[in-house]
Amino acid sequence: MANDFDKVSSSLGGAEADSARIDKLEAKVRHLSLISEALWIILRDKTGLTDEQLHKVIHAVEEHRKQRKDSKQNCHQCGMELPINKTKCIYCGAELDITNNVSPFDLHP
Ligand SMILES: [Zn+2]
Repeated sequence: MANDFDKVSSSLGGAEADSARIDKLEAKVRHLSLISEALWIILRDKTGLTDEQLHKVIHAVEEHRKQRKDSKQNCHQCGMELPINKTKCIYCGAELDITNNVSPFDLHP
């Protein structure tokens, strides 16, 4: 009986933990959105860039990210092909040279 209770309690705890994580993520997204909006207003008001120009920059970043997403590199140690954003080879563990055209926004260990 205690085991069944523990299982149910544990399962509820998992769902509650997931819900708490989702709540935290939603709060972070709202906060980041707030920061983005504030930065947008600062850029527009302090630099004189128009909303249209800022939209164009967002579109350009979006296109550049799409292009970078499919870029590949080869590990200097084992020769395996890897996504360009890896800092370590997933096959042999070698540290990879990140000085090639990798955006700091794309880097993943
Ligand atoms: Zn390798």
